Amino acid sequence: MPAAFGGFAGSPPVIDFHTHLQRGIAAGDLIRLMDESGVARLVLMPLYYGDGGGAVNDGEGSDQQALDYARRHPERLVPFCGMQRSELNRPEAWSMSADARRILAETDSKLASGAFFGLGELMLRFYPYTNRFGIRAVSDMDHPVFSPLMRHFADLSAKHRAPMVVHAEAEPHVAAGMRRLLEAHPEAVVVWSHNCGRSSAAAIAEMMARHRNLHADLGGMVYSGPQVEHYGVYYPRRTPWMHLVVDAAGIVADDMKPVFERFADRFVIGTDIAHARVYARYAGHWPRWRSFFGQLSAATAEAIAWRNADRLIRG
Ligand SMILES: [Zn+2]
Repeated sequence: MPAAFGGFAGSPPVIDFHTHLQRGIAAGDLIRLMDESGVARLVLMPLYYGDGGGAVNDGEGSDQQALDYARRHPERLVPFCGMQRSELNRPEAWSMSADARRILAETDSKLASGAFFGLGELMLRFYPYTNRFGIRAVSDMDHPVFSPLMRHFADLSAKHRAPMVVHAEAEPHVAAGMRRLLEAHPEAVVVWSHNCGRSSAAAIAEMMARHRNLHADLGGMVYSGPQVEHYGVYYPRRTPWMHLVVDAAGIVADDMKPVFERFADRFVIGTDIAHARVYARYAGHWPRWRSFFGQLSAATAEAIAWRNADRLIRG
């Protein structure tokens, strides 16, 4: 944690563990936005996706870009190996295509170099969306969780003590795959995004009690109310397996609050800015996070705001 960040407006300092890096956002702009918001460190997961086939991603980020930015701002920016790549949206990747083997080998050497701190976001069960910023994510993804490629990534995570961030909406077959993966790879450091794919409080508590290697990020989970297009509401579709963390006013659900307190060392936060043009709104996300922290005990708020992220990043 950089020494300059002792807190912000009466709230704990924060590490934003879930953001994406795109070609169109400059390092200096990221630092300025972080300074405006009191954010100490930012995890950058490169968004490789380009445009085409009806998609508008505002992406085209890369691991090299993340590395360059982190070299300029080593105390503030935390590069991960980016997994939002078109090669991984082909079904054959998950049973180990040539592309998958190449990405795996490259990821191994990047993590071994010590310059990268994790990998993600691995996109398994993902719902397409079109939002009001003109972004069009078109792929309805349903890649197998307990698959040869995921098992190899879990081995890399364990080998390097590197967190692997997984986006997997917790439909029954997806949650079953995640449980198998956690069981088979107890040393892997798994961060199941968006509060374990928007699982129920009871399911999260049961899984966290069983699997010491399970963590959850709350990427985008505290934004709610009218106009919101993010994972804090039933967006971009609603399923019977989807559970929210806050209500329309940002009040934490009665059943989630004790889970945060009981498993205070397992959760991290993230703004989940996925597209370059959306970074302009970065500072506007923080009042909701600070309201969220204010509803937890001070020790739990501090753990979730930065201590857990700090520990995961350092291995
Ligand atoms: Zn995600």
